[in-house]
Amino acid sequence: MDLKSCGYCKEMVDLSVGPHIHDPKKCKQCGETLPAEAFHRWPSSADGRRHVCSQCVANESAATRVQRVIEKDTQFRDDKEKLKEHGYRWVRRVVEPGPDPVFRWALLDPQGQEVTKEQALRDIWSAENPQPDDFDYPVY
Ligand SMILES: [Zn+2]
Ligand SMILES: [Zn+2]
Repeated sequence: MDLKSCGYCKEMVDLSVGPHIHDPKKCKQCGETLPAEAFHRWPSSADGRRHVCSQCVANESAATRVQRVIEKDTQFRDDKEKLKEHGYRWVRRVVEPGPDPVFRWALLDPQGQEVTKEQALRDIWSAENPQPDDFDYPVY
């Protein structure tokens, strides 16, 4: 017995008696009925194929890639704006002086102390999201 639940037809199938094949198969994404070959091989599926056709998979991964880039970029802009808004600023620091100096960017907080961007964003976050002051409660 090699029981597996099929994510496509929602049935428990016994793979030891033979392969469980859906051909043709309806794509869960685009709803198109396509031959089994149009679906990527997927060993963990009861029927050995993905339930989303390869065309949809390709479209989706391209879309997610674009989406990720956009999100990252937006996040970066947001961070930059936020830091500026809270009085943080980037300064260029000389790491190795000389005829060919090496610089790096350092983030300074409003007091002029160098902080990491992560720390700055955490501080901004906690400044914008005040926590209820519950330190006075007795600890048992
Ligand atoms: Zn099935
Ligand atoms: Zn599809």
